[in-house]
Amino acid sequence: MLIAAIEAGGTKFVLGIGNENGEILERISIPTEDPSITMRKVVEFFQNKKFDAIGVGSFGPIDPRLESETYGYITTTPKQGWSNYNIIGELKKHFDVPIAFDTDVNGAALGESKWGSAKGLNSALYITVGTGIGAGAISEGKMIHGLLHPEMGHIVVRRHENDGFVGICPFHKDCLEGMASGPAIEARWGQKGYELQENHEAWQLEAYYIAQAIVNFILILSPEKVIMGGGVMKQIHLFPLIRKEIKRILNNYIIKKEVLEEIEQYIVPPTLGDNAGISGALALGLKAIEINESNS
Ligand code: ADP
Ligand code: ZN
Repeated sequence: MLIAAIEAGGTKFVLGIGNENGEILERISIPTEDPSITMRKVVEFFQNKKFDAIGVGSFGPIDPRLESETYGYITTTPKQGWSNYNIIGELKKHFDVPIAFDTDVNGAALGESKWGSAKGLNSALYITVGTGIGAGAISEGKMIHGLLHPEMGHIVVRRHENDGFVGICPFHKDCLEGMASGPAIEARWGQKGYELQENHEAWQLEAYYIAQAIVNFILILSPEKVIMGGGVMKQIHLFPLIRKEIKRILNNYIIKKEVLEEIEQYIVPPTLGDNAGISGALALGLKAIEINESNS
């Protein structure tokens, strides 16, 4: 079985063909430009290829509710040209196969629980800390949706007492994303994350905000694994700082060995690495086939 996988990111689109074992057989990356240009390239890439379904994991916010009038749209993004853009409608004009549409992070959470760090578990959380911050959750074996989809990157965080930075979220200023995303690091310190030394105070502050958020997610969702990806998490020295801070905040409240003794295996990078996004889209495509078969 072959799946067309599309990881629609704000900076780049990754396109691939994969199979039911999670193998990516072919992949390319194209820059995210105006939808008319990018989607033309997407159609060209898949046009003469064989596949049974399409999975799209997208930057958001999106409308993933099948019953909705704006199903398949990227909705209120500030990204030029993509606001209220019907990405699934455009794909349907060209391809007559089942299509699944979800957030990039819900896809990544699904992919990691099928083939990666959360394999065999019923619940998991996937967080990306990059241009934005977002998280997707698997609970009782299913991706979480609701009114739309969770927006865990925009939660309120408790400001550090020595932190006077106003925050950069266009909607909330000092929400998690506004304080701890890659662009927030750059705005606060005047340098990009990868230019800062490992011993720079930026990292302790970064861990302070991210750990608070993860503690909240652990308390609310009770995930069996927390997987952290995205550009900023390439700074792997952040993992021990975040784990320590999580234990400090939880203060022995969650009496589970995963948190108390084995937190190195509880808060982890994605096994699928840079393929977490495209593998997520592949997992979504397989889901589209399952749903299609159970409806027919
Ligand atoms: P996107 O969010 O667009 O999918 P990324 O996850 O790569 O892309 O996130 C990009 C952000 O992460 C930028 O703000 C960039 O400065 C930051 N970033 C990328 N690589 C690193 C790194 N190695 N260390 C720290 N920050 C990084
Ligand atoms: Zn926000």
